[in-house]
Amino acid sequence: MAYEENRAPLMKRKIVIIGGGASGLFLSSLIPGALLLEKNRTVGKKLSLTGGGKCNLTHEGEPRETVSHYYDKKRFVSPSIYTFPPVKIREYFSSLSLDTYVRSDGKIFPNSEKSSDVIRVLTKGDISLETKVISIARNEDFFVLTTNKGVIEAEKVVVATGGSSFPQTGSDGSFFSILSLLGHKIIPLSPALTSLKVMENLGRVEGITVEDVSIKYKKIKKESSILFTRNGISGPEIMNISREVENESKIEISLSSFPPSELFHLKGNMRAIKALHEETSLPLRLLEERLSWKDKKIGDLSKKDSEEYRDKFYKWTPTVTTKGMLNSSTVTKGGVDTDEVNPVTFKSKLVPNLWIIGEALDVDGECGGYNLTFAFASAYSAYLSLTRE
Ligand SMILES: Cc1cc2nc3c(=O)[nH]c(=O)nc-3n(C[C@H](O)[C@H](O)[C@H](O)COP(=O)(O)OP(=O)(O)OC[C@H]3O[C@@H](n4cnc5c(N)ncnc54)[C@H](O)[C@@H]3O)c2cc1C
Repeated sequence: MAYEENRAPLMKRKIVIIGGGASGLFLSSLIPGALLLEKNRTVGKKLSLTGGGKCNLTHEGEPRETVSHYYDKKRFVSPSIYTFPPVKIREYFSSLSLDTYVRSDGKIFPNSEKSSDVIRVLTKGDISLETKVISIARNEDFFVLTTNKGVIEAEKVVVATGGSSFPQTGSDGSFFSILSLLGHKIIPLSPALTSLKVMENLGRVEGITVEDVSIKYKKIKKESSILFTRNGISGPEIMNISREVENESKIEISLSSFPPSELFHLKGNMRAIKALHEETSLPLRLLEERLSWKDKKIGDLSKKDSEEYRDKFYKWTPTVTTKGMLNSSTVTKGGVDTDEVNPVTFKSKLVPNLWIIGEALDVDGECGGYNLTFAFASAYSAYLSLTRE
């Protein structure tokens, strides 16, 4: 690990990487001679938060399976994922003395379950911290990078500045205006992999998880668990769908496949909510909070009660939104238009000797380690291209 004190003066460099997040750090670990510029005091601030601090590095699977988790960008991510699939990501970390394990759901984590270990093994290049790139100009043969610490000339520049979610980690989207000035088209930024805000009062159901839920949004149909959050719903498939959700649109949630009519044929003194809980296994607290018949017996339930149950659980169609949630989303949908970047080399098709990798591109993957997989795979492809030229 070479920090600022023992680094050569910032002046002329062959390769400069902008951004010390997942993709930039990974690339700098492969090309230790490159200079990595990071505006924060430390590298990998977002990486440290990944997987709840455990870092879900990648996901088990053959390249063909892995590629299927990138929505409309399957073709674009294909060459890099085939070149550097999850198995090679694991091998690379093993070569850095960081062994990994596959969890029962296919997610891959470091054995230590510490994102700090991932950052540690990748932090070995030439790194200049607290160095923010403010502008980039291109002369005939080289780039002129203006930073808060002075000017750097570079033959080759790699942009690894991330998206714009969790801006407190440094990836705040401000670099997109620089890329735009260089001529790149920026696809509008919006939240992805986020919970959905529900536009009705859910009561105090925060923290409750319900298994085996059917989710329908437009043509998308999924089965998953859902988690009630402070003001909405979350869960793996809810997050995967969130990038498609239009502002204040309807989503269809069936919390239970239990046909309500069966309950209403039951007789007896059992309190209605308790009976419903036993028949559906929906959490008692959820039923008590959402239904108004705490003190009713089964026999007292009316047609209106049955409709209330159906509306709230059997075919619940809340109005949802992700508006204003870009800051808190896990990843960013949008970024540099992938039509302008070569998917084999990650070289810009518009600006000579410029590479763009990771979440700065208009690529986002599903939950389960696919965003880091792309950060690493795109960095690896750029490495091959940079070192072969
Ligand atoms: C809470 C959370 C949990 C997540 N968990 C997972 C997970 O478990 N698995 C998974 O696959 N994905 C996860 N992700 C997504 C994943 O972290 C990102 O997709 C990934 O970090 C993107 O890597 P990147 O290198 O493109 O950008 P980033 O990691 O965001 O790094 C960009 C870096 O560039 C720096 N930078 C920006 N502008 C400048 C500038 N002008 N000058 C110098 N430096 C600059 C920033 O400070 C930042 O350090 C998670 C995201 C969040 C927010």
